[in-house]
Amino acid sequence: MQFIDLHRQFDRIEDGVREGFDAVLKHKGFIGGPEIKELQKQLAEYTDVKHVIACASGTDALTVPLKAWDLKETDAVFVPSFTFFASAESITLAGGTPVFVDVDYDTFNMDPADLEAKVKETLEEGKLTPKGIVAVDLFGLPADFPAIRKVADKYGLFVLEDAAQGFGGTIGDKRAGSFGDVGSTSFFPAKPLGCYGDGGAIFTSDDDMAFLIDSIHVHGKGTDKYDNVRIGYNSRLDTFQAVVLLNKMTLFDDELDKRNLVAAEYTKRLKDTFETPVVPEGYGSSWAQYTLKAKDKEERDMIVAKMKEQGIPVMVYYPIPIHRSGAYKHLGAKNLPVTDDLSDRVFSIPMHPYLELEEIEMICNALKGIVNR
Ligand SMILES: *Cc1c(COP(=O)(O)O)cnc(C)c1O
Repeated sequence: MQFIDLHRQFDRIEDGVREGFDAVLKHKGFIGGPEIKELQKQLAEYTDVKHVIACASGTDALTVPLKAWDLKETDAVFVPSFTFFASAESITLAGGTPVFVDVDYDTFNMDPADLEAKVKETLEEGKLTPKGIVAVDLFGLPADFPAIRKVADKYGLFVLEDAAQGFGGTIGDKRAGSFGDVGSTSFFPAKPLGCYGDGGAIFTSDDDMAFLIDSIHVHGKGTDKYDNVRIGYNSRLDTFQAVVLLNKMTLFDDELDKRNLVAAEYTKRLKDTFETPVVPEGYGSSWAQYTLKAKDKEERDMIVAKMKEQGIPVMVYYPIPIHRSGAYKHLGAKNLPVTDDLSDRVFSIPMHPYLELEEIEMICNALKGIVNR
């Protein structure tokens, strides 16, 4: 069994992908081919934002807009510690300093109350200047943007949405990618919208930010491509990846429905045994992961080992919170109790749109047999 099965999806789009690749091989616009423009247009329509800029990875999709905000080392950007490393790494790459915020126990996402507490602490300490927020749509569920926006407005902070896992998620009738001043996503193959290599995209309805981001993602280009007016990156999506993504977009809504069915089947079978994922009223998840909480670390590690023995892949996202990682522990961040607790207890079970009922049943029965409660 696969944790994320890309074979079954490929069977549905194989002809389109091969034809699209052939077309690229004929026109040879390997970088910046017409498929890139078409993809950006479709993503802008899908998320209802004005500008989409495709780039080379989800990490770049965070770093490039952060660079546009012109951060200094004394600028604080607030970010959860319970997320993938790149959410914080991008802040450092862009020249700022991450300040870690705790998450909500039920949703795994940034806790707006702790966000405000950490902003106040930072102001009181006086070493760093609060500048912005990177809020993550963890495991596919959009962060609490209405509450985060209130804190941002109160303290004059920008909001960057890390929708690497969240593409397809919703709050009301709005879609992930559109919740911040800028949004970003990743097309790493295992993400809800993945390509066949590395890739990412940046979303914004702010014309000035779009202009800066477009420049920074190609060597700080000016109106003349060879008059470079600022320092940037070489961060473009290649045309082959756009072909893959255009084909996947034809399936995306159907896959989203299927992911939700899988999640509902899991929850039905597991809710009496485990604390199952919570999707707040009015929210929709893209189910990048289906994550459960064990009783304690010992039980979690036992579940992972025993499931593996039975040939069922189980992953831990994330065993080391970023504030405890080798790269960031020197910052000495503390007072992140929910993050510390969750990283000891969480585990994620196979999640993709093509899981069949028998597989779901087998996985749930195995889990229930292991914990025996
Ligand atoms: C995967 C991921 C990224 C980075 O995306 P890459 O395409 O791998 O660079 C950033 N943030 C989160 C939350 C992610 O899951």
